[in-house]
Amino acid sequence: KTKEKEGNSYQFYDCKMNNQIEKKFDIAESLRVGLEKREFILHYQPKVDIKTDKVIGLEALVRWNHPEKGLIYPNNFISVAEETGLIKKLDEYILELACIQVKEWEDKGLDPVNISVNISPKLLNESNFVEKVESILINTKIDPSLISIEITETAAMRDKEYAYKVLGQLRLKGIRILLDDFGKGYSSLSYLKDFPIDVLKIDKSFVDEICSNNINSAIMRAIIDMAKALNLKVLAEGVETQEQLKLLNDFNCEEYQGYLFSKPVPVKEIEDMLKERYKKAVNA
Ligand code: C2E
Ligand code: MG
Ligand code: MG
Ligand code: MG
Repeated sequence: KTKEKEGNSYQFYDCKMNNQIEKKFDIAESLRVGLEKREFILHYQPKVDIKTDKVIGLEALVRWNHPEKGLIYPNNFISVAEETGLIKKLDEYILELACIQVKEWEDKGLDPVNISVNISPKLLNESNFVEKVESILINTKIDPSLISIEITETAAMRDKEYAYKVLGQLRLKGIRILLDDFGKGYSSLSYLKDFPIDVLKIDKSFVDEICSNNINSAIMRAIIDMAKALNLKVLAEGVETQEQLKLLNDFNCEEYQGYLFSKPVPVKEIEDMLKERYKKAVNA
């Protein structure tokens, strides 16, 4: 009897594993189709200057506009895209979408606004990544200083010398480099000393605790002071409360993103926000 039970549970386990593998296969397959059919869109989250409360840039975040399942968020497909290597195509496509958006706003006569895109380590580590970026910039005819690239700390650390070279080349073209999710990985401060980056994005998990945890707020203050000494801008991500914002301002953090100001929103909404900003500036 017991044996039978064990047998069943083993079978059940096996079956569950198979289901998970099948599910991944399904996602990978429909990702392939979705990429061909260009089913991906961008939402934009404002980056805000803490002192002036003005929008100073946008982060582009991918969403999958699936014909049957509706809007799918990155947590549900980025890891499969990474595992299958499809992320390289996806991120290239997203970079292109962001550049096309910059161009469209320029054509509409809106004030130029910088858009940052998240680039996977898989694409960063392609030997022709810089050339790929160059050709997208040339094809879309936009000013490179209107594009920023977000790289995670772990991606930059994977092959330091290579990342140093590639990021340096992009920076020479006028592209700004942001180190994303800082505080989540190695958090090694020393390697930042002469690394070619412009902005340190402090991970939400850190920001979450600055008001409730004295040690965390001390570390936050230290990170901000260090970044300043290295001539880096600091952006705090995932700011949700006025208390967090006040503390960040006291610590001289310059920029933030978070639901407190706005969630990532579709292009139409961000356009309205930017036009509003333009009106205010003109009337001031
Ligand atoms: P990330 O680059 O660190 O982006 C920040 C994430 O935090 C976004 O989630 C954003 O919607 C969310 N967020 C921003 N402010 C708040 C807040 O105040 N509270 C809370 N709870 N969340 C906030 P999203 O859009 O779901 O993206 C998740 C992650 O997926 C991104 O983290 C990034 O690592 C990845 N990702 C998104 N788009 C792309 C892409 O185009 N390419 C690649 N390679 N990765 C992407
Ligand atoms: Mg990011
Ligand atoms: Mg981030
Ligand atoms: Mg993050």
